[in-house]
Amino acid sequence: MLPPALPQFDTQSDVASEPGAESSGLRTWDLVVAGGGPAGFMAAITAAEAGVRQVVLLESTPTPLGKVLISGGGRCNVTHADWDPRSLVGHYPRGGKALLGPFSRFATGDTVAWFAERGLSLVQEDDGRLFPTSNRASSVAASLRNAALAAGVTLRTAVALQAAEPLPAGGFRLALRAGGGLLERLETRQLVLATGSHPSGRRLAADLGHGLVPPVPSLFTLALAGAGMGDLAGLVMDPVGLSLELAEGRFRQSGPVLFTHRGLSGPAVLRLTAFAARSLKAVAYRCELGVDWSGGRSLADLEALFASLRSDQARKQLGAWRPWPELARRLWTVLLEQQAVDPQQRWADLSRTQQQRLIEALRASRYQVSGRGPFGEEFVTAGGVPLKELNLATMASRKQAGLYLVGELLDVDGVTGGFNFQHCWTSGWLAGRAIAATADPRQAS
Ligand SMILES: Cc1cc2nc3c(=O)[nH]c(=O)nc-3n(C[C@H](O)[C@H](O)[C@H](O)COP(=O)(O)OP(=O)(O)OC[C@H]3O[C@@H](n4cnc5c(N)ncnc54)[C@H](O)[C@@H]3O)c2cc1C
Repeated sequence: MLPPALPQFDTQSDVASEPGAESSGLRTWDLVVAGGGPAGFMAAITAAEAGVRQVVLLESTPTPLGKVLISGGGRCNVTHADWDPRSLVGHYPRGGKALLGPFSRFATGDTVAWFAERGLSLVQEDDGRLFPTSNRASSVAASLRNAALAAGVTLRTAVALQAAEPLPAGGFRLALRAGGGLLERLETRQLVLATGSHPSGRRLAADLGHGLVPPVPSLFTLALAGAGMGDLAGLVMDPVGLSLELAEGRFRQSGPVLFTHRGLSGPAVLRLTAFAARSLKAVAYRCELGVDWSGGRSLADLEALFASLRSDQARKQLGAWRPWPELARRLWTVLLEQQAVDPQQRWADLSRTQQQRLIEALRASRYQVSGRGPFGEEFVTAGGVPLKELNLATMASRKQAGLYLVGELLDVDGVTGGFNFQHCWTSGWLAGRAIAATADPRQAS
């Protein structure tokens, strides 16, 4: 099936001849949104649909929605089927409970309805992730571009916002850049920064009075030193318990783990590294990882199991008869090797000490984390503009009147599974509504 055709925008802008020119001679827009990603599109569309008339969306690259197009392995994991804002906030290592207010206004159900109203249906997978029914990220991008076009948003690509100067009477004078040189200046009554993790947006926010929580990577895999598990690459175990004891706290996750050539990946590892992102950075990604391969079995359960295996499978070799069928044979063999237990030894001959060592290895193996591995399919930056510098009901800056900040530019990030886009939809929608309400208080709701 071919992806839906992307709508064509008129990206020309004859600034001098447009209406709205004021005494400075510069065109004045009602709203400029800097950043043509999901958060910027949502803010621009929502404001324009709610009645804000002259809205321009600036995107510094030739292709807006670039991350949407490559997201979710080209399928775009739009959001996650966690319908209750109180549990939804639990998926955000940075943001957390502060997002309860925003999600109470616009959460997963609203996202599904919003896209459905604009012709894009989503389908839920077994793990709760929601994708477009077409299974193509391009459908999500087309839906956003169509909605922006229909709402009258002017999209200008390959044009970056370079500087924003607040005007004494309100609003901003903006400098736009294209192809490395200054393109033009214009003015706007309201400004949304939706520049994602790009340094230019952080600099613009800082110039307008905002602080910055230093960015650190989140959602990455772990490299392990000398674990001798490289041969297990590609193997998935589920559930696996993971724990990190770091100076700033203890982090635990349980779930599927994927062996890689260098260490471990999979949803449980990505969640762990997301929640521990700052603490891991503080130890330069060198620490000890605790791993429970036992599927949550207690010490007593394991001792009883080993006792029964020693009698019931007495003549079987350890390497040929693993303690339970879900324990992958290759992993069991590696655990035997790590504990220097001969796989050809019979269960009947397993000594007490060997049993204790194997049970300990199953329940609480310890591995040296030697570094950060590559990112998973989805990756984000932790850090950004602190939430306390915003009114979270409107995403309006507390530092600068007329300024709104949305999306990944903020110190919010979610674990993998559609939560990062959900924050973009929510923050963009809130800003768009608030801007429309400022322009026309009858739009407030
Ligand atoms: C490979 C990959 C896959 C992902 N998959 C998923 C997924 O399936 N589900 C999910 O929830 N999350 C996913 N994410 C995370 C998600 O893409 C981001 O959280 C999200 O795109 C952030 O949206 P944003 O609008 O804040 O910023 P961005 O998407 O980064 O958009 C910001 C835009 O602003 C532009 N820009 C920057 N500076 C300026 C400027 N000065 N002037 C004008 N324009 C500017 C940039 O070019 C960019 O297009 C993935 C991330 C990656 C890298």
